[in-house]
Amino acid sequence: MNNYKIETKCVQGGYRPGNGEPRQIPIVQSTTFRYDTSEDMGKLFDLEASGYFYSRLQNPTCDTVAAKICEMEGGAAAMLTSSGQAANFYAVFNIANCGDHVVCSTAIYGGTYNLFAVTMKKMGVEFTFISPDCTEEELNAAFRENTKAVFGETIANPALTVLDIEKFAKAAHAHGVPLIIDNTFATPINCRPFEWGADIVTHSTTKYMDGHGAAVGGCIVDSGRFDWMAEKEKFPGLCTPDDSYHGIVYAEKFGKEGAFITKATAQLMRDFGSTPSPQSAFLLNLGLESLHVRMERHCANAQAVAEFLEGHEKITWVNYAGLPSNRYHELAKKYMPKGTCGVVSFGIRGGRAAAEKFMKQLQIAAIETHVADARTCCLHPASATHRQMNDEELIAAGVPGDLVRLSCGLEHAEDLIADLAHALESV
Ligand SMILES: *Cc1c(COP(=O)(O)O)cnc(C)c1O
Repeated sequence: MNNYKIETKCVQGGYRPGNGEPRQIPIVQSTTFRYDTSEDMGKLFDLEASGYFYSRLQNPTCDTVAAKICEMEGGAAAMLTSSGQAANFYAVFNIANCGDHVVCSTAIYGGTYNLFAVTMKKMGVEFTFISPDCTEEELNAAFRENTKAVFGETIANPALTVLDIEKFAKAAHAHGVPLIIDNTFATPINCRPFEWGADIVTHSTTKYMDGHGAAVGGCIVDSGRFDWMAEKEKFPGLCTPDDSYHGIVYAEKFGKEGAFITKATAQLMRDFGSTPSPQSAFLLNLGLESLHVRMERHCANAQAVAEFLEGHEKITWVNYAGLPSNRYHELAKKYMPKGTCGVVSFGIRGGRAAAEKFMKQLQIAAIETHVADARTCCLHPASATHRQMNDEELIAAGVPGDLVRLSCGLEHAEDLIADLAHALESV
């Protein structure tokens, strides 16, 4: 599959049915798997053979879909998780434990920020948050002796900043640690972070990959390029014996290509169990089959909507990297020449009250906390997710009271624009 274009990988990746086998991927709805002898099964428990024994760790349907995403990202190994939150937690916790430190962009998803700044802090992992627009000097100064990874989002949700992936990869590698990129908003259709030096990619597949608001899910892909053994002392979890598997050393036994995902599966999935269901993986695969077609339309609609809003007298500002006036436009052209994503944010003259009034008048765009759905949806954070904050607190949090976030779906752009134009008349 690796010589094919990404569109072909979306449709056909991960699964090659044999003679007389089902054309669509089979849903293996089974918790367990049968073996002839205890010896056969014992080899699986010792990681001496690969195979299935219990769906908490691995399931054939989920692995088929993970293999497709792996091909799309150009990676070496991948695994599905039950959510994007689980994917980011596993990706970081697989290499950063109690007493370790991670450098992270400030422009990340709110759920990820809580996970890192509150919950993982309680587990003893410390994060230094740094602006994605920092200089190389500022970035390098954020590293410590115990830093184990760097983390950022290709296009941040909801800030819509574009990360300079090469700048972050260079700093990470200069300090002997991998760069982890959450590529949820761009998807591998618009950006493949491994091509710019990232080492590990994560996804909330709940967003564009699923694309129909049907199933929560996540994915981790490893490029297979980070040389763990070259930084042996930094990564004891991968480079010293694992007592829970009779002293296996992951980086020795599975090499650069297999160590990270094997450890995340054999240890973290075994112990935390954030397992996706095979049904959800099947739904995700249906979404992936049309991802390349849908992303093009999401981006075209967002571009048309952003251009309409930018020219409207009742709109005070528009944030969309596809607009030449946007501060991230040049970075977006470099990393995402085909387009960025379908999410646009903007401010309405009249602030909080006007934004609330405007939202009430929308007929196509539904009010939801979701994004990246086939159906257009929108959110006014000041009256929903951030409603406990006053105007000053909202500005400090980067979500001013007048901000509306619109996730452009797959409807006709003219209908979306007419819906917005009508709602704007009311304010
Ligand atoms: C939604 C989202 C997540 C969390 O994913 P869930 O599937 O909701 O757990 C992580 N990162 C980004 C960028 C997201 O948009």
